Amino acid sequence: MSLRPILIHPDPRLKKKAEPVTAFTPQLRALADDMLETMYDAPGIGLAAPQVGVLKRIFVMDCSKTDEEEPQPMILVNPEITWSSEKVSTYEEGCLSIPDSYADVSRPSEVKMRWQDLDGGAQETHFTDLWATCAQHELDHLDGKLFIDYLGAVKRAMITQKMKKLKKARA
Ligand code: ZN
Repeated sequence: MSLRPILIHPDPRLKKKAEPVTAFTPQLRALADDMLETMYDAPGIGLAAPQVGVLKRIFVMDCSKTDEEEPQPMILVNPEITWSSEKVSTYEEGCLSIPDSYADVSRPSEVKMRWQDLDGGAQETHFTDLWATCAQHELDHLDGKLFIDYLGAVKRAMITQKMKKLKKARA
């Protein structure tokens, strides 16, 4: 396993639609392991493949409360939403590709997602609470969408400026 560098917004790779996974190979497993390690190291609760520059439809997440619960790593390949609740919840979201910027985003409180595991097996999960928000945030990444795309243009531009400065400072 190894840590992979996380792309920081703005980056054209974060705006692209990712391709479906068709080959359930040891390389895919290695990618998922690296993504989990990178996510826990950051630390974060979700990471999508485009964030490490791989334009494939796979993301990892773990929304367990780290101080109270056992880790619950999940790896979702080719996820799609099959149902969403009418009720919405608002969470203050952040993103490993947009460090230290947070904003309220409203999304369906609960979703059902169909996805494949690393062997290609079909799975379906009903997500609630933070898991539902995180799963939708990560799925957005696979379609080139960031949480700041839900904000007003002014706020989004401010965050993008901040990220450009951060990238310059890091370069
Ligand atoms: Zn994100």
